[in-house]
Amino acid sequence: MRKVKDWNQPCPNKACNCYGQKNQGNIRCISSYMTQSGKRRVFECKRCGEMFSEVRDTVFFDLRTSEEKVMMALKMILVKVNLSDIAFVLGITEETILRWLDRAYQKAQEVNYHRQRRWLVIISPGRYPGYALI
Ligand SMILES: [Zn+2]
Repeated sequence: MRKVKDWNQPCPNKACNCYGQKNQGNIRCISSYMTQSGKRRVFECKRCGEMFSEVRDTVFFDLRTSEEKVMMALKMILVKVNLSDIAFVLGITEETILRWLDRAYQKAQEVNYHRQRRWLVIISPGRYPGYALI
């Protein structure tokens, strides 16, 4: 069994004194649910009672598309594949890709604001939810 401290999830409630801090022993897993991309957990902050999804702060939250497909599209953008080519390969519209990109950009902006570093939303939701340093 993993210990509570190992969830590596910060409380997303800005009013909570554990906001944005990880491994404070305040986060517990209360349930899980299945998505197209596998099992996802729901957490609760014991300090303030806020409940949130594992993917809440990532580009994947509430998307109908599988995480793998979104990641594939964002990776192809990174290596400068044309939008129309990505759309053709993945069987989606260019507008959809632009929405994902916009969402990734928004998330990157939030992370920039908090960490004062240059991050881009992409890769490895398991290891560091939704983000990787480039
Ligand atoms: Zn909290």
